[in-house]
Amino acid sequence: MAQLEGRLAEMRAAQETQRAEVNGRRQAAEGVRQARLAERDAMAGSVNRALRQRYERLRTVKLTRVVMALDGAACSACFTTVPLNRRNQIRAGTLIDACESCGVILFAPEEIE
Ligand SMILES: [Zn+2]
Repeated sequence: MAQLEGRLAEMRAAQETQRAEVNGRRQAAEGVRQARLAERDAMAGSVNRALRQRYERLRTVKLTRVVMALDGAACSACFTTVPLNRRNQIRAGTLIDACESCGVILFAPEEIE
């Protein structure tokens, strides 16, 4: 038993430098992350509040595919047809709306001539 404990202590000592290095890298990464989160918050401050809340809510339940393009007459996430009136408003930029079926925020892609 004492032999095993001695061996454990040896192994811990051998890993000390590497552990310190990993900790240093982790702290540096955390610093970068905090700076990026602050930048994101500053940018998001210019977004309409209700729209931002909707986006953040979607982000908590879906990891990706929160803002999706209209694909012809349909939502490009779930392929449910979006009513013509709402499609026209989204294309005209007078409405930012969510898909009635899956909830993603829809936008009109630029028309390719
Ligand atoms: Zn959808």
